[in-house]
Formats: sequence, C-alpha cells, structure tokens
Amino acid sequence: MQSFKGRFEPTRFEDLTVTVDFHCHSACRFCIVQEGMNRYKGVSFERFRQAVDENGSAPRYRRVTFTGGEVALEKRLFDYLHYAKTHGGFEHIRLQTNGRPFADEAFARRVFEAGVDEYFVSLHGPDAATQDHISQRAGSFDEAWRGLQNLRALGATILTNTVLTTLNVAHLEAIVALVEPLAPARMEFWNYLPMEDKADERGLIVPMAELAPALVRALDRAKAAGIPTAVKYVPMCLLGEHAESVDNTQPDVVIVEEFYDLYPKFACLWEAKCEHAERCLGLTHAYVNKLGWERERLVPIPRVRPWEEPEDGLAFGTDEPGGDSSRAPSEDHPRWRALVDGVAEAHGARLASVLLDRRRCTFRFALGGASVDVVLTKRSDDGPALLRTRSFDVSYRNLRDVDDAAREGLAKLVEAVARSVAARDEGAMLLDERKGLIGEEALRRRRG
Ligand code: SF4
Repeated sequence: MQSFKGRFEPTRFEDLTVTVDFHCHSACRFCIVQEGMNRYKGVSFERFRQAVDENGSAPRYRRVTFTGGEVALEKRLFDYLHYAKTHGGFEHIRLQTNGRPFADEAFARRVFEAGVDEYFVSLHGPDAATQDHISQRAGSFDEAWRGLQNLRALGATILTNTVLTTLNVAHLEAIVALVEPLAPARMEFWNYLPMEDKADERGLIVPMAELAPALVRALDRAKAAGIPTAVKYVPMCLLGEHAESVDNTQPDVVIVEEFYDLYPKFACLWEAKCEHAERCLGLTHAYVNKLGWERERLVPIPRVRPWEEPEDGLAFGTDEPGGDSSRAPSEDHPRWRALVDGVAEAHGARLASVLLDRRRCTFRFALGGASVDVVLTKRSDDGPALLRTRSFDVSYRNLRDVDDAAREGLAKLVEAVARSVAARDEGAMLLDERKGLIGEEALRRRRG
C-alpha cells in the first residue's frame, strides 16, 4: 500500500507553528494530539526564542502560529507573544484555540492587544448538543461561541476549523450557517486523521459515501456566502467544483520529530493515472483497511503528463509569501530559478523543471534527449556533495538516456550549475532535513 503519499511530510514555507504546550481543558474525542499530551512537552521558551530570532535576522515566515493543546491556558503566553511581536518580524500572529478562553472579554482584549490578530477557532458542531458531546465538556460550545463574538467585536481575523468525523458529518452545512454572520476569513474542514486508533475502534472515520455529499453541501453554502474554504485529507475527485479547496500543506511546525512518526500514511489506487496525484493524498491507510479502496467512487482525472514515481515528498506550487502553496508543482519558483538562470542556455540545454519541497530543490536539465537532476539540500559539514555553497550541498542524480556525447555535455553543465549556485547563493535560502525541528528534549519522561 505504500506509495509516495506514504512519505508525505506536510510543510509549507510561509507559516511557522510553535507547539507551546499540550495541556487542554477540553477532551475532543478525535484529538490528534491526545497521545502527544501525555508524551510531549511543549517547546521550551529558549527554543522558541531561537526560532523567532532566526526569523528576525533572516525572514522566512510571514506568520507565527501558537498551538499545542489549548495554548491560551499557557502561563507564559504573554511572554511568548511579546517576544514574537518584538523580535520575529512576523506580519501576523495567530492562535489556534478551542475558543473557550475568549469568552472572557477582558482576556480576549488583552490577547488581541498583545498582537494576536488571527484566531483559528475549532468549531466542531453548530450547537451545544453536538460540540459538547465531542469536546466532552458541558458548556464548551457556549463559551466558544461567546469567544468568537468577542473576537469579532474586537475586529480580529477569524478562521474556523472543523474536524470531520461521524459525530458531526450531519451538521456541516449548519456549522457554515452558524458562522456566516461572523464573516470568517476562511473556514477549514480537516478530515479526521487516526493517529493512534488505527483500527477506528472509536468509529470516527466517515465513509466517503456520506462525507463527500455533506461536505459539498457545506462548501456550496460557504461559497454562496463568499467565505473562502480549505479542505484537508479528502480526495479531490469527490468534491466536484470545490476540488480546488483542497490544500494538504501544513506549516513548518516546531514540534518533537517523533510526532510525525505517528502521522497517518495515505494512498490512492489511481495515483499513477490521476492528474491530481501530486496534490491529492487519497485515503488514509486506516480508511482503506476499514472501508476499502473506494475503487468505484474515486474517479481519477486522466493524466496529461506522464506519471513518474516521485522520489521525494509533495512538491510546492510556490514558496512565494502570499502565494498559493497548494497549487500543483510548477515552474513558479523565481528565487530558486534565479540561482541557475541562463546556465542551461549557455550550454545548449534547457531547465525542464524546478521542484521544491522543504528538504530539497531539484533542477532538472535536459540536453538533447538526455537529462540530469541537480539537487540542493541543506548545507552539511560532511555529507556527500559535489560542492558546498553558503546554504546548500549541491549534488546530482538521475542521469537519463545518456550516450557518450551527452555525458560530456552534461558533466560540463552540472559543473557550471554548481558554480552558478555557489556564486549566487547569499546564504539566506533555507532548506531543512528535519520535520519537527526539535528532538528528544521535548519528550516527557515517563514514570517508572
Ligand atoms: S483518483 Fe485518487 S489521486 Fe485522483 S483525485 Fe481521486 S483520490 Fe485523489
């Protein structure tokens, strides 16, 4: 079942998320950090400061998002906010929250005035009966709703997040109807990811036969109300005209590396036939194990480009701040392209593609019928490399269809490309091999 989707490592360039703490006063039945709450500590203030300082000196992220369990409960919240505001050079500061703490108007105002301009609020039901059942806390819906109204009155940017499970699939359109008057900047719908309960003993995974029509109705309603939407972990081919709402990217997250070991794997039977394959994740392995491949329901969009098993993770459409990073891979990476601009032409070759993910930038050059990939990865001190530049290790791979004549031409081209990168790399273009950005220091010691 393993496909390249199984190697999916979510990330995008413009957002940095910091997992401050894993404590929470709700206990949502689907919570994907539930296991993490017992196992992980938040990021230390010192590590956080380092990440902020890095951005202050070499800006990379436009936004910092604080998350964890319920981050508004963190005792040092205002220290974190103050440091991000004064040192990070971020355009936006966002809190990911269950909304409950913001029922307190004075607290909401204090956080807003501390610089948090965006609030990503979980809303899993349109009423107390649904949401309180999911959160397992009576009164949580009323608090969240008051919180949302307080934030709206302050003029904050509101985004909502709804996790799609069997517990709320019947209420998705009603959630949109409820939220409409708040004019959120975006409503997000994330399909439930089984992080621990892979056999779905809790019965939270919704069959696509039920989920897709309910979600489409909710997206229709949001569209009619002029509310932008984003959908994660739902097959694009099931969303009709809303397929473009699918955005499976995630911010860079300062979290323990191990968190991603638990991350579900994805697969689609039609991957090699579908035009959406580079953006759509298909189904989780847990879904396939429980409910099957959905062979008849999933309808691939016939590929117009030949399928090639990707060697790396999902590639980005763009890394430009404000750009749409969910787009299919394209040539739209001007900063990266500029590293090698003109080199191919000078050697009678052409730059066929630029593929970028958080770990590497791959330039594919074609010379006649032959081709070669020149790959940039984060600069190391000892890894194998043709050349090290200020930011990168430069190497090459995938010599294709090379005869003796082409071999010499490609060798010269690769050398020239490496020299060009070395000359133009000023040291501020970051690639990173790590996923979680912090290691074992963020694990809680288990007793006994
Ligand atoms: S066929 Fe598979 S890859 Fe294509 S859109 Fe559907 S689920 Fe995604």
